[in-house]
Amino acid sequence: MTGKSILVVEDEEAIAEAVRARLVSEGFRVRVVHDGPQALRAADEDRPDLVVLDLMLPGMDGLEVCREIQKTDWVPVLMLTARTEETDKVAGFAIGADDYLTKPFSLRELTARVKAILRRMERMRHSGSSEQVIRFDLTVDPARRRVARGQEEVGLTPLEFEILFTLARSPGVVFSRDQLMDRVWGYRDYAGGRVVDSHVARIRRKLGDEAGEPRYIRTVHGVGYAFREDGRVSGPGPASGESGRAT
Ligand code: CA
Repeated sequence: MTGKSILVVEDEEAIAEAVRARLVSEGFRVRVVHDGPQALRAADEDRPDLVVLDLMLPGMDGLEVCREIQKTDWVPVLMLTARTEETDKVAGFAIGADDYLTKPFSLRELTARVKAILRRMERMRHSGSSEQVIRFDLTVDPARRRVARGQEEVGLTPLEFEILFTLARSPGVVFSRDQLMDRVWGYRDYAGGRVVDSHVARIRRKLGDEAGEPRYIRTVHGVGYAFREDGRVSGPGPASGESGRAT
């Protein structure tokens, strides 16, 4: 992971400097900027591997910065929020952030999150072993990391893709929120359930899926989520590892 570049967007000098020093000591290349417009310019110039983004910025807030940054090129974002209520709110917005960290946070925690996100990106990049999964009218293609509904391509972020792929390759298997955190994010935390929920909600919206009458992702109350089983798909469900191509 050494040499990966990280853009830190934080208007509080003391926090920005502490974060910068720690990440540099971990071997990352770090650029710090203090407001939204600078962040957009820096993201465009540097194409960082990850952005650590403060939610409360002068002028242009973190949500807007996050949206703008994602427009050109998808990049993982670790959002810093001031309070847990803010984290809830941000998770509810279902913007393109990968993860949230509530202030005050320890530098050790921040480093762990940054590394987990980068590891996940690496894993996604190199998990070219799997076959595409076709269920109902959905095609999930891990080699090209593309999802299509019928002939129409659905734009998912890498994280959303990973969640959908995890569920769709094992229809009928119920994944708890913790299991999804483990598999997709690579760690768990207190806000895990809500972060998972907000991502699933966003995937559903993009797929035109309704929570009340889901065509693809079923909510298993008190447990988690499962991809709907298709009567046309043969073979055992759980952990069979087969590609489950529907006819
Ligand atoms: Ca701030």
